[in-house]
Amino acid sequence: MAILSIRIIGDPVLRTVAEEVKTFGPELAKLIDDMHQTMADVRGAGLAAPQIGVNKRIFTYSVDGYEGHVINPILVASDDLAPGEPEGCLSVPGLGFTVNRHRWVRITGVDKHGHPIDMEATGMLAKCFQHETDHLDGKLYVDRLEGDDRKEALRAIRMADYHDVTAETVAKRARTVGSAFGAGAAQ
Ligand code: ZN
Repeated sequence: MAILSIRIIGDPVLRTVAEEVKTFGPELAKLIDDMHQTMADVRGAGLAAPQIGVNKRIFTYSVDGYEGHVINPILVASDDLAPGEPEGCLSVPGLGFTVNRHRWVRITGVDKHGHPIDMEATGMLAKCFQHETDHLDGKLYVDRLEGDDRKEALRAIRMADYHDVTAETVAKRARTVGSAFGAGAAQ
């Protein structure tokens, strides 16, 4: 297994709609293992493949004791919203803002063996699934901010010198944000 470097906002891969996975096998399994290891290394709650520079519809998650991965996810969400909690992102290090998220989701997709996945989630796990699925559509959580939060986030992103950020400092910042999902994890 290997720890992969995390792409930071400004990298075009984060703005690209990821492609459906069609080939299953040992290479895909290794990628998912590496994503799990990378996510654990930075104590992330979730990691989408574009965040490590891979333009495929895959994400891993580790939230509230739930751990796993979803390939080619399709999300259906309730109309009502969850209570707001600050959210962070490994690709936008050092920031945390509250985003409106749906209270409940159902996610379907497949696992690395091509077996079907069908899960329902609320709470932090539901938020994580929404955040990670957004990544696969080239969206970042800061895109969903409005008003003063949006202005503040865009200013902070402009001010931040992300060019010199190493994987290690990303990890440290992600930890100190205390942003994502209560446990101080980022996605
Ligand atoms: Zn993220």
